[in-house]
Amino acid sequence: VSVGLSIGAALYPRDGTDGETLMRHADIALQAAKHAGRQTYRFFEPAMNAALTRFLQTRDDLRAALEREEFVLHYQPQIELETGRLVGVEALVRWQRPGVGLVQPDAFIDVAEDSGLIVPLGGWVLREACRQAAAWRAAGWPDLVVAVNICAVQFRRGSLGAEVLAILEETGLPPAGLELELTESLLLEGQEEVLATVAQWQARGIQLAIDDFGTGYSSLAYLKRFAVDKVKIDRSFIVGMAEDDAARAIVQAIIDLAGGLKRRTLAEGVEEASLASQLRAMGCDEAQGYLYARPLAAADLERWLRAREVS
Ligand code: C2E
Ligand code: MG
Ligand code: MG
Repeated sequence: VSVGLSIGAALYPRDGTDGETLMRHADIALQAAKHAGRQTYRFFEPAMNAALTRFLQTRDDLRAALEREEFVLHYQPQIELETGRLVGVEALVRWQRPGVGLVQPDAFIDVAEDSGLIVPLGGWVLREACRQAAAWRAAGWPDLVVAVNICAVQFRRGSLGAEVLAILEETGLPPAGLELELTESLLLEGQEEVLATVAQWQARGIQLAIDDFGTGYSSLAYLKRFAVDKVKIDRSFIVGMAEDDAARAIVQAIIDLAGGLKRRTLAEGVEEASLASQLRAMGCDEAQGYLYARPLAAADLERWLRAREVS
């Protein structure tokens, strides 16, 4: 048994003059300590109250949104630089919030992860993305691959390994039609369970990508150990390339490193044609970004695909 300790403290009379208020504020400080990575302490601050209230509100709204099925997937094309060929689409979740409009994931994914709601939400995303990809493959794009983002919480709280395989079975999408995007930190956690699950997926032929590469620990040992198919170079490096020699050097180093390990590289957030040709000259395999298309609703992506076939 290993015992951990997190402490939240509230001070009399600053944080409250009765027992109940002090306990509640100490509890909020405790949540903050846990949120800061556990094994630490926090003193209560009024701002924590506001942050917690916002968290709880968003969590409750998300839960209701899941029940009402207010989520929708948009798809962003991934292009092979050498040929201009479409190699896949990344599924990105949006929340169609009544009275608000389309809410981007940056506004709610954190809360979904911290509250555990990412488990049912991520399950929905996987099923919907696989269903849509299977439909597109049957409708005339037989090689289309859909990429789905997976976060660490989904591994920790669910039985993700089996769920993914069951969803493929259920939707009829062949494993080669699915790519899972994992982050470096997820792989670095390195629990045997994660390793075993990833190996199980790969044995079935599911493709794996490392997302936002370069922003985490970028462990070379893990890049070697995991036979991922694709390394997605984080947008921050790509954006910086035009003016910044250092960013360009980092991108070149990642391309060379991945190439040496026989992994494909994809540049995220490519907005300009000059950047795309530069990346191609540097040996980068694929690109994704507003230059080609923004993330599009399913019907819009179909129009985009057809328009490309004509031209
Ligand atoms: P990500 O996986 O790195 O996705 C790429 C993000 O970059 C998307 O933002 C996309 O719209 C944006 N992007 C693509 N091209 C360009 C460009 O040329 N310029 C600029 N400025 N941005 C570009 P989005 O859709 O807001 O998603 C943000 C993040 O939310 C994703 O980052 C991913 O980490 C997370 N996310 C989205 N959907 C899901 C999901 O279904 N499950 C999980 N776990 N996370 C998700
Ligand atoms: Mg991604
Ligand atoms: Mg990314």
